[in-house]
Amino acid sequence: MTIDNRQSTIENPIDLIIIGAGPTGLACGIEAKKAGLSYLIIEQGGITDAIRRFPVNMTFFSTPELLELGDIPFTTPNVRPTRVEVLQYYRGISDYFELNLKLFTKVSEIKNQDKRFNLVTDSREEFTADKIIVATGYFDYTNRLGVKGEDLPHVSHFYTEPYAYSQTDVAVIGGRNSAVETALELYRHGARVTLIHRGSELGAVKYWILPDIENRIKDGGITVYFDSVVEEIATGSLVVRDKKDNKRTTLPIDFVFPLIGYRPNEPLLRSGGIALDSKTVIPEYNKTTFETNVRGLYIAGSVACGCETWNIFIENGRAHAKPIIEHILTDRENMAEVRSETDVSEETICP
Ligand SMILES: Cc1cc2nc3c(=O)[nH]c(=O)nc-3n(C[C@H](O)[C@H](O)[C@H](O)COP(=O)(O)OP(=O)(O)OC[C@H]3O[C@@H](n4cnc5c(N)ncnc54)[C@H](O)[C@@H]3O)c2cc1C
Repeated sequence: MTIDNRQSTIENPIDLIIIGAGPTGLACGIEAKKAGLSYLIIEQGGITDAIRRFPVNMTFFSTPELLELGDIPFTTPNVRPTRVEVLQYYRGISDYFELNLKLFTKVSEIKNQDKRFNLVTDSREEFTADKIIVATGYFDYTNRLGVKGEDLPHVSHFYTEPYAYSQTDVAVIGGRNSAVETALELYRHGARVTLIHRGSELGAVKYWILPDIENRIKDGGITVYFDSVVEEIATGSLVVRDKKDNKRTTLPIDFVFPLIGYRPNEPLLRSGGIALDSKTVIPEYNKTTFETNVRGLYIAGSVACGCETWNIFIENGRAHAKPIIEHILTDRENMAEVRSETDVSEETICP
């Protein structure tokens, strides 16, 4: 049975609201439904919207069975599925389980009110539930260089496709998978690519990609500046500084992609009272139940790893759903017991 969204009001709260319909949010919805909870998944975009916004030609590093939800097989002839296959699979999952979704609705605030939660959306709609799972991932908020010119129109913190950049000079900043894969794809589509990395060597890069980038650097196909930081971006150029000798070089550049990692939606987490580590932005939560420092407010999936986004991904984040729902059920049983004991004692006092 699906729940009518409109029942999730202050007068008619539901058991659970899940914020985010990424793989983790869907996994939580499946478990909530199996457990018979009234639930709603609120998503700012379409189903698995973050993945929809990934680079259009990307291939996942995980093999398909490691991305499965609800024990439904994910079949593809490829060793590693493409973005389109993953989107198609998760769309099918939501249909199959008839998940209760409220799409294109962005939650902007979590209000903790009188043992219940009130969620406020961008359009000032309000939804109320006893428990909340925040499964918002990290893909909306990128780390920033903090340099002049970073917000110019030819600078983008997200990369989607290569064709706009053929025969142009492109700087890619970063040294992990996103930067390396973007540099390679742009190079293969006719862009003149410069990779700028603050480290002295590339970070953790997929083992089957590493020889490719190393050889492109060796043969001069991609120019690289290691141990270097961007100091300023201007229209048509950027200034890069070598950290070892402080030498500054001005490079002619048409487009800039700073791809230096992501971070969770801190204002949203803080609005609900979730404590965040000042350095890593990792929320305070119980590693077994995923309940945060705020009773009844849970986190699940990638949002739980703060800025250390390489630690929780679909493969392990999907596993958060079961323990959370089990904890919600146990908590409900305990509350019911307390209530019935209170009733008995009240009866004793007031016969
Ligand atoms: C290029 C790339 C390749 C990757 N490849 C792999 C891989 O091969 N295998 C793997 O396991 N992982 C991979 N990952 C990591 C993986 O995609 C993420 O860890 C995963 O998507 C996290 O799932 P999630 O459901 O926790 O968060 P997300 O998938 O980010 O989903 C969060 C959802 O919440 C929604 N949302 C956010 N804020 C709000 C709000 N305020 N209100 C309402 N909705 C909101 C978003 O729109 C989104 O749909 C990759 C990541 C990238 C960037």
